[in-house]
Amino acid sequence: MKVPFLDLSIQTAQIRDDINVSIQEVIDKSAFSLGFAVEKFETEFAAYLNAKFVLGVNSGTSALHLALIAAGVSAGDEVITVSHTFIATAWAISYAGATPVFVDIENDHYTMDSTQIESKITSKTKAIICVHLYGQSADLDAIKAIADKNNLALIEDAAQAQGTTYKGKSIGSHGLATCFSFYPGKNLGAFGEAGAVATNDPKIAERIKKLRNHSQPEKYIHEELGFNYRMEGLQGAVLSVKLKKLDQWNQQRIEIAAIYNERLGNHPKLKVPKVRDKSKHIYHLYELGFESKEQRDNCSSFLTANEIQNGLHYPIPVHLQKAYSHLGYKKGDFPNTEAAADRLLSLPIFPGMAKEQSEFVCQKILEFANIL
Ligand SMILES: *Cc1c(COP(=O)(O)O)cnc(C)c1O
Repeated sequence: MKVPFLDLSIQTAQIRDDINVSIQEVIDKSAFSLGFAVEKFETEFAAYLNAKFVLGVNSGTSALHLALIAAGVSAGDEVITVSHTFIATAWAISYAGATPVFVDIENDHYTMDSTQIESKITSKTKAIICVHLYGQSADLDAIKAIADKNNLALIEDAAQAQGTTYKGKSIGSHGLATCFSFYPGKNLGAFGEAGAVATNDPKIAERIKKLRNHSQPEKYIHEELGFNYRMEGLQGAVLSVKLKKLDQWNQQRIEIAAIYNERLGNHPKLKVPKVRDKSKHIYHLYELGFESKEQRDNCSSFLTANEIQNGLHYPIPVHLQKAYSHLGYKKGDFPNTEAAADRLLSLPIFPGMAKEQSEFVCQKILEFANIL
């Protein structure tokens, strides 16, 4: 049985008619850049998140970049974040002219270890970016308390957390600004590149609205360095249709995760993901832990040989990437981050995945694990 890592065509088939209508409307009205379809999506997504403002942009990376600028981060500043993330979290800090300062992750939840933040704060620190990795929230109360106490902006990277909640409240309005990616493979994905910033702060919203559109409050009036980070009308149209399905699709991921947890959770050699008490987990990625890199790599090869696609998120932590070698970090600096990079394996999980497929994945993993 072939098991893909992700099959977007199943989602697309469910919404084809609605998508065709909404795309046609954008074409008929020639509203290709920002425009009515983007505004409609912004309003709907803000209501979904229970946030006051949503600003559509052209990627998750752009969302993070503009959130940092709007929060007042500029050249020479420092921003505290994690090394265990997709590298774009760090790129955005660098684009703003600031330096990423890394802390380790918690061993259980793979998100920012709040106890390490305060020792990294200097007079240059302006902000913290926490990442709601894999689909569950970071330890928001603890991180927010530190941000507030030290007068730092809290920016959330929610690229993998569309529909996640923390203490029953949607991820999207806990920090100063929450950044989403709608890259096609994300839980809410566009038909191309897109992203958004959610905020309750009218000043942040106003600033991002200008910055994303060449910093022009009026046509051909430019008050500061601007960007072309506008969301495309067609992406807004697609996202509006898909947003209606988000909870249902997340629920399907949760059901697949439950099968994995049940079948693999009792095996002494395997570590299934632990969900934070206060958070929902929407399993953008399902991470299975092994006791060593060798076991993880061998299991990955075994699954591949059995036509089960699998992935690594992420095999080289940001602090060990060549692009950031100038920061002077070395192997051993963040033990939990490095262990996660070495030992986690991403299993197939997507809406519409057949129960037989997840059962087959479990069967093959147990076959592998039972001879360890
Ligand atoms: C996908 C992702 C991003 C970047 O989003 P793009 O839309 O690809 O720019 C940033 N952070 C995390 C954690 C991501 O998963």
